[in-house]
Amino acid sequence: MSMSDVLYIVVPCYNEEEVLPETSRRLKEKMEALVAAGTVSEGSRILFVNDGSQDRTWEIISALHAADPVFSGVDLTRNRGHQNALLAGLMTAKDRCDMAISMDADLQDDVDAVDKMIEEYHAGCDIVYGVRSSRKKDTFFKRFTAEGFYRVMNLLGAETVFNHADYRLMSRRALEGLSQFKEANLFLRGMVPMIGYRSGTVEYERGERFAGESKYPLKKMLAFAMEGITSLSVKPLRMITGLGALIFLIAAVMLAYSVYRWAVGDTVLGWASLMCSVWAIGGLILLSLGVIGEYIGKIYLETKGRPRFLIREVLDDEG
Ligand code: UDP
Ligand code: MG
Repeated sequence: MSMSDVLYIVVPCYNEEEVLPETSRRLKEKMEALVAAGTVSEGSRILFVNDGSQDRTWEIISALHAADPVFSGVDLTRNRGHQNALLAGLMTAKDRCDMAISMDADLQDDVDAVDKMIEEYHAGCDIVYGVRSSRKKDTFFKRFTAEGFYRVMNLLGAETVFNHADYRLMSRRALEGLSQFKEANLFLRGMVPMIGYRSGTVEYERGERFAGESKYPLKKMLAFAMEGITSLSVKPLRMITGLGALIFLIAAVMLAYSVYRWAVGDTVLGWASLMCSVWAIGGLILLSLGVIGEYIGKIYLETKGRPRFLIREVLDDEG
């Protein structure tokens, strides 16, 4: 059974010319070891997705493919972002593989965790999550924001796997499940748990990017967090309703109190408290409108049903 299982390792790449030579060497080494051990078939592939890079990324991928059929490539028509690029790769792999593993191009995900993921797959898991065992190597700021992110996500009703990013194995039928999720606003690590099936986790130590710069500056990270929350849950909308009810209640109490003060003849009414409430209510209204607008924007984009990615070219010799 296991000898014939085709593995596709899917790697999204955006301006990764600096890391690709080393990454491809490491992944090829890993693939050869897996084939030699008989855990995956010889038809297995390393699939690089070029996400509209401006540098020589696609040239490098094409050259790798020409030199060795273990390397495959998907060239997107333009930059669509990490999540869309990853989906493009997974959907290309779907009809060609028995299992696909997604990982970043910068080798921050420990390549050796792949063995354990495949073991879990053979033990019957359809989805295996790579989970970071520690964040020792992260700066305090990154650890604080990242772990806070998972906590807030769960609090707001988005079910995610703690400390799991997009390093995971998915079986073919799990990929088929994923292909039925039609949303344009992608947040894969929140969507995958919704697929179901048996899942497992594999712990790994996340290293540092060995070359090049992060393609996820703080601004993109915040946008990503927002995306995650609003595309997975409607809890923030409900919280607004709750907040509105609470404020109304407070207003009623305040009104009763003012009437009481007036009745006992104490007419020195608080100008300051009035000003404060005007500002507070104004702010809350704007905030609430913002949250609602956020969802309406999502609905707008979803109803357009735009393609999530367009592929210019696929380089893949089926094994
Ligand atoms: N990436 C992508 N498209 C983008 C931005 C990033 O395909 O628009 C890829 C990038 O090449 C890498 C992965 O997504 O393989 C994660 O990016 P990065 O390592 O820069 O993020 P970080 O690890 O700093 O969060
Ligand atoms: Mg990285």
